[in-house]
Amino acid sequence: MMSLSSRSQLYRKLPSIDELMRSPALAALLEREGQPAVADAIRFVLASLRDQIAAGNLETEAIDIELGGLEHAVRRRLRDCLSFSLRPLVNATGVILHTNLGRAPIAAAALEHLRHIAGQYSNLEFDIDRGQRGEREVHVERLFRRILADQGFRAEEKISTLVVNNNAAAVLVALNTLAEGGEVIVSRGELVEIGGSFRIPDVMAKSGAVLREVGTTNRTRVSDYERAINEKTRLLLRVHRSNFQITGFTEQPPREELAALSQSRSLPLMEDLGSGALFELRTLGIRDEPGVAESLAAGVELVTYSGDKLLGGPQAGLISGHHSLVARIRSNPLFRALRVDKLTYATLEATLLAYVKRDFDAIPALRMMHLSEREIGDRAQHLLNRVSHPALQLSLHRGESLLGGGAAPSATLATRLLAVTSEIHSADELAAGLRAFAPPIIARVEEGRVLIDLRTVFPEQDEHIALALNQIARTRAADDKLSS
Ligand SMILES: *Cc1c(COP(=O)(O)O)cnc(C)c1O
Repeated sequence: MMSLSSRSQLYRKLPSIDELMRSPALAALLEREGQPAVADAIRFVLASLRDQIAAGNLETEAIDIELGGLEHAVRRRLRDCLSFSLRPLVNATGVILHTNLGRAPIAAAALEHLRHIAGQYSNLEFDIDRGQRGEREVHVERLFRRILADQGFRAEEKISTLVVNNNAAAVLVALNTLAEGGEVIVSRGELVEIGGSFRIPDVMAKSGAVLREVGTTNRTRVSDYERAINEKTRLLLRVHRSNFQITGFTEQPPREELAALSQSRSLPLMEDLGSGALFELRTLGIRDEPGVAESLAAGVELVTYSGDKLLGGPQAGLISGHHSLVARIRSNPLFRALRVDKLTYATLEATLLAYVKRDFDAIPALRMMHLSEREIGDRAQHLLNRVSHPALQLSLHRGESLLGGGAAPSATLATRLLAVTSEIHSADELAAGLRAFAPPIIARVEEGRVLIDLRTVFPEQDEHIALALNQIARTRAADDKLSS
C-alpha cells in the first residue's frame, strides 16, 4: 500500500488546469475548439489521473510518463467528444439505395439550394405577392404535375401531392384518413414487412383501420376483392412486394381490373409503391415495375412512395393522387404531425427540377443506375493497375449490382466486380482494414473474397480505394515481418 504522504506527493505533481491551458502545445487546439471544450477535456484527463492515484495504480515513475503525455491525452479526449458520429463513407457494395448507408446521395444542385435556403428566412409558408400566409405544398406540387405530364400522364391537373416524413408516414396518414374505423382489403400475397419493422398489418392497426385479407399467398383474383366488399369497406389497397418475389403458380389482378372494381363500387384504390420511380424504368431494362405515372394512369387514385429510393432525393414520403382524396389527407391533424421542414422542401424541389430539365445524370442515384458495365469495368481495371503488392491478388469478374431500398426485388444491373484476396489476411480482415480507413470503405465479402463494385463509388473516390488497398497490404506485411 502506498502511504498517504507519497500519494499527496503524486497529487502535487499534477499541473493545474490554468498551467495546461497556457501550454504552447495546446495553443492551436484552444484556438480551434474554444476555451470551454479544451478546459473540459483537461478537467477530464486530470480527474482520471487523480482517480488512478487514489486507487494506487500510479507509481512515481509511471506518473512522469503520464505527465509527459498529458497534451496528447487532452487531444484524444477532445477528439472522442467532438468528432462527428454521423460521417461520410465510401459505398463499394454496389447496392445503390442502401438503407443502412443513407439511401440516395443528394444531388449537388440540391445541396447548394439547401444551403441557400436553410441558413436564411424563406417563403416556406408565405405568399410573397399577396403578403399573406401561404402553403408549403406549393413549392413542389407544380413540379410533380410537370413530371407526370412529361411521362405521358394525361390528367395531371387532377393530381395533388403531399410531402410527409417518409413513406411509412405516408401510408399511415393515408390509411387513417381514408379508412379509420372501416375495413381495407389487401391481398394475402402483399402483406409485406419492409426492413426497419414496417409491416403492413401493424401500420394498418395503428391507422385505426381493420385489415381484411383476401386471396392466398400466391394467388389473388379480382373476384376475391369483390366478395370481401361490404358496408364497412373503405378502401382497396395494393402493396408493392418490394423485397421479395413470388414465382411459379401465381396470380395478381392487373391494376386496371382493380381500378374498374373500385370505381364500380365507389371505393378508392390506393397503391403503396414503396420506391415509386419518376423516370422510365425501361431505360434500365426493368419491365413489369410500374412507375408513379403508370400506376395513376392505370386508374389507381392514390399512390405513396419514398423520396430517397428510386426518386433519388431526400428522405420523404410522397402522397400523389386525386386532389379530392389528397385534400382530405391534408386536413387530417396527423398530417400536421408528419409534415416536413424547409430542409426537405429545398432538397426535394431542386431534385425535382433536375427531372423537369431531364438532367437525370445530375441525380447521383440515377447516374449510378445508368452506368454501363463497360464504364465500371474500365474504372475497375484502372484501379487494379494502381494496386501493386505481391501479397494481394486482384481480379475482375462479372457480377450484379442491386437497386436496393426495396426497389424491384428481381432487378439487378450487370456490373464488373473487383475481387481481392490476400495471402496474409482473410477476406473479413481485409474488409475490416478497408472499414478502418478514413473515410471508411464498405465492401461486400463473398466466398472468401472482398468484392468491390465501383457502381456506387464516386469516380473521385477510386484513388482512395487504391491507396487503402496498397496501404493495408504494406502495413500488414511489415507487421508480419516484425513478428516473424
Ligand atoms: C420502403 C417501403 C416502405 C417504407 O418507406 P420509408 O420511406 O422507408 O418509410 C413502405 N412500403 C413499401 C412497399 C416500401 O418499399
